[in-house]
Order: sequence, then C-alpha cells, then structure tokens
Amino acid sequence: MVKNLICMIIKSLHSDISIRTEVITLFKKHIQSKKELPESGGILTGRILNKEIEIISCSVPSSDDIQSRYNFIRSHKTAQNFINYRFERSNGTEIYLGEWHTHPEDKPTPSNTDLKSFHKTLKNNRLNSDVHFMIIVGIVETYFAIYDKGNMVDQKYITLLYEVS
Ligand SMILES: [Zn+2]
Repeated sequence: MVKNLICMIIKSLHSDISIRTEVITLFKKHIQSKKELPESGGILTGRILNKEIEIISCSVPSSDDIQSRYNFIRSHKTAQNFINYRFERSNGTEIYLGEWHTHPEDKPTPSNTDLKSFHKTLKNNRLNSDVHFMIIVGIVETYFAIYDKGNMVDQKYITLLYEVS
C-alpha cells in the first residue's frame, strides 16, 4: 500500500485513487486566487497496479500553451513530449491518466468546451488505460471526475490537503 505521508487518497465508487503530494503542490501553486492570474493546466500521468491507481505526476503550463483568465489551450506537442518523457523515465509503467486545469471560481464545474475536448481526447488517442481523470482546480474546491472507457462513472469535490511550503 502507498503510504499516506506521500499522497492523498480519494475514495470513489469506482476505485481508490492516490495523488502524490508533489502533484497537489503543483495544483495549489496555480490556484487562481488573485484576479490577474490566468488559467493553468496540463497532463496527468501515473500508474495502475491491479485495483490501485496512483497519480504520480502532472505537467504545468509551458510557453507553448495559451493562458488567459478564462481559457487554457494546451500545446499537443508539449503534452506528448511530457507523456513520452514520463513513460521512458519509469520504464514504461507511468502512463497518461487524464488532464487538469484551473478555473477562477470557488467551486468549479466543467464547461461544455471542457467536456467536449476531454471526450475528443479520449476518443481520438491511442490510450494505455481505460481509466482517466478530469481535474478542475477551483479557488476553494477541486472537481474530480473519473472516466472509464470514455464514460464518466463518478464525480466529486475534494479539498487539496497539503499546504505549499
Ligand atoms: Zn475549464
């Protein structure tokens, strides 16, 4: 079992998911708590061992992404480079597990654009996993949706546990 010290655990109808503290820290760093801060986002990678799912890493905005207060457009090339890098670095155990981005609202909900683009991504890419996550980091709460084979099977609000030191 993964130790609690290095992650937070999300219990869901589908499975238990752990998120590494490093990932939580990066989410927290990009919260749109001030008016001038733009949307941020990136890719989630991690591994699935039997029924245990671990979100190990996430990419952060690069200069190839387009960021504004109410929009974030990810560069496909940079995202793919990140996925390849994590895959090679982990000897093929760490794979693409979904997407995250921020919203400038306390309790975020996915926009139609968010839902459409996520469905498109899951449909059009060759994926190594059936399970994927859409995470939207709000100012107070974080939206967490679990997809299995392209269909949303559970969604919940979580509070990010660790403070950025
Ligand atoms: Zn959004």
